Amino acid sequence: MNKTAKTERHILKAILWSYIVMCLIIAGLNYGYAAKAPPATASFLNSVWHFYENQIKTVFILVGSFLTIRIVRASGRTTMRKRNLIGIILTALVVHIITPFFLHNNEIYFFTMPLPWTTTPLQLFEPKTAFFLSRNPIWGSAGISAVILFYICFSVIVLVGTILFGRRWQCSTLCLFNGFASEVFEPAFPLIGKKKKMKPGMRKAFIVIKWLFFAMAVGLSLWWILFLVGIPIVGNFKRIAAFETYKYLCTELLMAMFFWVAFIGRGYCYYCPLGTTLSLFGKLAGQKIQTNHTTCIGCKKCNTACPMSIDIFSSAQIGADVKESRCVGCGHCVDACPVKTLSYSTKFIERLAEKKQSNQKIETAEEPELEKSGEQNIEQNIEQNVEQNVEQNVEQNVEQNVKQNVEQNVEQNTQAETECMIKKEEEFTQQK
Ligand code: SF4
Ligand code: SF4
Ligand code: SF4
Repeated sequence: MNKTAKTERHILKAILWSYIVMCLIIAGLNYGYAAKAPPATASFLNSVWHFYENQIKTVFILVGSFLTIRIVRASGRTTMRKRNLIGIILTALVVHIITPFFLHNNEIYFFTMPLPWTTTPLQLFEPKTAFFLSRNPIWGSAGISAVILFYICFSVIVLVGTILFGRRWQCSTLCLFNGFASEVFEPAFPLIGKKKKMKPGMRKAFIVIKWLFFAMAVGLSLWWILFLVGIPIVGNFKRIAAFETYKYLCTELLMAMFFWVAFIGRGYCYYCPLGTTLSLFGKLAGQKIQTNHTTCIGCKKCNTACPMSIDIFSSAQIGADVKESRCVGCGHCVDACPVKTLSYSTKFIERLAEKKQSNQKIETAEEPELEKSGEQNIEQNIEQNVEQNVEQNVEQNVEQNVKQNVEQNVEQNTQAETECMIKKEEEFTQQK
């Protein structure tokens, strides 16, 4: 890494530190102190938090993306990173700036968490929940309908996109929780200590936590669905909603956005309930890392670049595809490979590539035909023009000749007639 890249990396680290520290202070004041504070102070803290979560976060994303691309470019390819960062910037603009502006709602980002990640949006369907009671006076029934519609649209976009493009769609381009931080600030990781390989014991612990969180998230989602459709079920909705709020604050917000970001980067992605669900959709999509485009030289740069501790190198050695369910599709391994042997793919992406190839083949096959038909057209045009010109010339010549002949004949006749008359007059005068 050159000197400029090193300086830029220090700046990126400083930005990430500021993002985390500011977020901890403002979120702490908003979620911890505001509930007990006088209404005016509570409202002020709430607006500061929303301003931070929307506008300031978007600025961090823009600046961080710019620096990350510059740093990564200094040591290798950036194709996949650029695509990820463009996706994240666009999502941030839509979720944090454009939609809040049009819907007059600063908490739209809350509705970018499809089931079973959190059931909070579902709680808006029950008028007695704390979430509904706190938001209804601000948003009104039209505002609540608008956010529910946004939630449904976003969830459909996430699911359909994942079936087509694999987990990369959500986890590397749309996610504004752990996904965005891991892409935008990746060269700054870890903030504390040095980059280390994750130990197998830790990976095993993450697998247990992952299934625990998944079971909890699916259980809670089912509970709310049954409760909302009116099927009698054990449990009190107020307690369940309160439990979920604490779960969100401690394990989603605090862990995903701060703790793991400082140490591992994509730590929360190891056990995120949505990520686990999407890995099943990824299987359906046929998500894989292809490894056999060229011969692997065994440098292991792919393994070092992978934020999910996946062993790509071993598969690349034998030319086998990597079909690991924890792959978030970031493509860092693809960019890191010096001999370009890797590529990210799904069934749909393969179909697109095949179509593109067959179109190219048709175009190449059509080119000589086009040239031929072009030549034929030119020849035909020349022949037609020549024929037309000849016909026109002939007609013109004939016309001119006829005209000249007629004129000459008329002249000659007139002259002969005049001479004849003069002769007759002379004869007549002589006879007299
Ligand atoms: S696993 Fe979860 S937190 Fe991580 S990027 Fe995917 S959706 Fe976001
Ligand atoms: S295998 Fe490649 S695409 Fe998948 S998580 Fe690792 S680096 Fe990202
Ligand atoms: S980065 Fe490429 S060449 Fe190096 S080990 Fe991985 S697949 Fe092989």
